[in-house]
Amino acid sequence: MMQVLFLEKGQLLYRRDYPTPKPEPGEALIRISRAGICTTDLEMVIGYRENFSGVLGHEFVGVVEQAPEAAWHGRRVVGSINIGCNDCDICRCQGPEHCPNRRVLGIQAKDGVFADYVTLPLRNLLAVPDNVPDETAVFTEPLAAALRIREQVQVRPSVKTAVIGPGRLGLLVGQVLALDGGDVVMIGRSRHSLERPLTLGLKSGLAADFADGSFDFIVEATGNEGGWNTAMRLIRPLGTIILKSTFVGKPQIAMSDLVVREITVVGSRCGPFAPALRLLAQGKINTQALIDAEYPLRQGLIAFTHAAKPGVRKVLLYPD
Ligand SMILES: [Zn+2]
Ligand SMILES: [Zn+2]
Repeated sequence: MMQVLFLEKGQLLYRRDYPTPKPEPGEALIRISRAGICTTDLEMVIGYRENFSGVLGHEFVGVVEQAPEAAWHGRRVVGSINIGCNDCDICRCQGPEHCPNRRVLGIQAKDGVFADYVTLPLRNLLAVPDNVPDETAVFTEPLAAALRIREQVQVRPSVKTAVIGPGRLGLLVGQVLALDGGDVVMIGRSRHSLERPLTLGLKSGLAADFADGSFDFIVEATGNEGGWNTAMRLIRPLGTIILKSTFVGKPQIAMSDLVVREITVVGSRCGPFAPALRLLAQGKINTQALIDAEYPLRQGLIAFTHAAKPGVRKVLLYPD
């Protein structure tokens, strides 16, 4: 038996009576060292995916305790979250992210990482370099999601770029886009929300500080209608808006405005783990400044309440 945070019908429960998972063929059993609460987890509790029932959580670092290949035993690992059927054309050509039969760690038909143990296929795992501590490695998944933008669109460092929402994901996106000297502004809703981006060396401002059409490229990372409306006001004609978080509701979209101003909108989800881990190993991304609290798993419900407070960035969990 093990302890877990279990989501059932929009209710999060702490349980100590959950069966320890048994690895399927090709899978490793991983003991969780650290797990991160992200906005997706919070949204799932309030109903972004009403049909998921299981162990929540998808951001983790842990240690392999059982594996079909001896080389993995005892390795510290992170793991990508999409498990494809490995058989369809999409899996073969593009990878598991868009497999119609995929399972997604802690999100869709696969128990997640707010637990003592998780199982994942070996092909999803990546060994963590020794110089990357657990509290840093646990950011690999959200950092990969931030890097996904650079796989989808070219963001030239000279164009005016804004990231709306200086939250747990937005601050990673801002750092990624600023890596090559990019002209990036973090846009927040209050002066207080701009303190963290400033400590990370990122330019920041309130939406009201900028005239309509000020930016060529905008990443919307708030996941709420207000953030979308701000993006639509601040984007210039022919500009690109990247949507980097899921929306719980169904925001109103002024379609004609997109057409008349010829704005490109790009949805953006999971990204590449290997480059994310390389950036963390190189010390190029500040994750320490994003951690607001760490809780033992048994206090997971308190941790969730903390993570849901406005302005709180990353809250980590560790089984004890
Ligand atoms: Zn996440
Ligand atoms: Zn597939």
